Amino acid sequence: MSEDHGESGLESESHGPDKVAANSQLHLLDYDSKSLATWLKTEGSQSYRAKQIRHRLFSGRAESFEDMPDLPKALREKLSQDFQLWTSTVVRHQKAEDGTEKLLLQWSEGGRIECVLLRDGDRRTICISSQVGCAMGCVFCASGLDGVDRNLTRGEIIEQMLRLQRLLPQGERLSHIVVMGMGEPLANLNSLLSALNEANAPDGLDISARRITISTVGLPPAIVRLAEENRRFHLAVSLHAPNDELRDQIVPVNRKIGIKKVLKAADQYFEASGRRLTYEYVLLAEVNDSPEHAQQLAQLLRGRPALLNVIPYNPVEGLPYQTPSSMSVRRFREILERGGINVQFRQRKGDKINAACGQLRRSTPTANVEIQPPSQA
Ligand code: SAH
Repeated sequence: MSEDHGESGLESESHGPDKVAANSQLHLLDYDSKSLATWLKTEGSQSYRAKQIRHRLFSGRAESFEDMPDLPKALREKLSQDFQLWTSTVVRHQKAEDGTEKLLLQWSEGGRIECVLLRDGDRRTICISSQVGCAMGCVFCASGLDGVDRNLTRGEIIEQMLRLQRLLPQGERLSHIVVMGMGEPLANLNSLLSALNEANAPDGLDISARRITISTVGLPPAIVRLAEENRRFHLAVSLHAPNDELRDQIVPVNRKIGIKKVLKAADQYFEASGRRLTYEYVLLAEVNDSPEHAQQLAQLLRGRPALLNVIPYNPVEGLPYQTPSSMSVRRFREILERGGINVQFRQRKGDKINAACGQLRRSTPTANVEIQPPSQA
């Protein structure tokens, strides 16, 4: 068991589905252990069966209720009648030479999202989505080009984790989760936390909370709520600009917020959690990569116990932004390092498979796609 599995405010509530699926079957992953035990009770089964089902799902990688041989046949049949285990279809499955794999999923409830498995040394990191589309409108990002359609449910968020887990050979475990796929996670906080609690739970995926990162555009009230309700996860704030004039252009939602309030909420999260957070800065050539920007950024973050993660832009077809030259990246880096900022320059992974989320969805036409059955995921 990994460390760091505290109780959260939400864990004590039982979590059932928000709505019944179109075909009137329920999504099993919308049920936490309490609501599953309640369902079992009404069916005349004993609640310890919930443990068996969860064990088969999270550790045993069951693909169907048939893969749960320790359950009585009648219960397996009843489960198949009432529940769907998978509510997505894998529309595309891409693999890059560096070991990165990406899935494009179509939900039966509607909409498509992307999720990614990254391999780096011993790390097996997954990047998951929280919404279909995104409402934040960051000008360089592919995910929000068509706005947001809907929030993903708890079950849909967990389903991404389980599908990616099943790409690993037996014996390999997921080690890290980043919520950096499509959508703004803090705009879907209830379902997200309920899903992440399962990722963290010892009888779930058993991933330490400090290895689970929520990346946000920076919505202060939601950051404060997170600090109050569940401050065990790692928080990353997408800054992308060192002043409001520029941030208003690159991250339009900033016009209603302002950098000062974002930093204040982030400071509160640090004070509540005692955990250093990360600021993300996507470097866009000739937009936010000048020496002046680096100086302003160093000033803004000086004294804050944070890590600055500078990410070279992953170009999106149809958008006018470019990756800066290695010379301007080096210059940017030197100024920040001289300014005493704890900075990290991240390598891009999975470039060849459009690994910046939102890109694969855009490059895949809705018609004429090869639909693979879930078992081939
Ligand atoms: N809405 C959240 C999480 C999703 S985006 C957020 O804003 O943080 C996760 C990170 O990827 C963000 O920092 C985002 O700015 C960055 N990103 C989006 N598109 C990118 C691209 N094409 N190249 C590099 N980084 C990108």
